[in-house]
Amino acid sequence: MVKCSSGKRVYLTENLAEDALIDAHARNNYAGTGPVAFYQCEDCGYYHFTSKGKMNEKLAQQLANGKIKLQQEANRWTNKLKK
Ligand SMILES: [Zn+2]
Repeated sequence: MVKCSSGKRVYLTENLAEDALIDAHARNNYAGTGPVAFYQCEDCGYYHFTSKGKMNEKLAQQLANGKIKLQQEANRWTNKLKK
């Protein structure tokens, strides 16, 4: 596991960061808070989430077209079934 002096979670590729970002939104109802994008770190050279700046395009798209919401519902059901 790669560690960064920033203490933030490290994502090895842009693709992994983007998937994880979208997944985080599907699992949590951030309602305006939480990470909106990722950036390449000057320290470790890998990627971290950020809650500042412009929202990631794919995330914005999936929030707009309801895909995140569908995923949230699906996760809710999965959690219910687990109990
Ligand atoms: Zn870093």
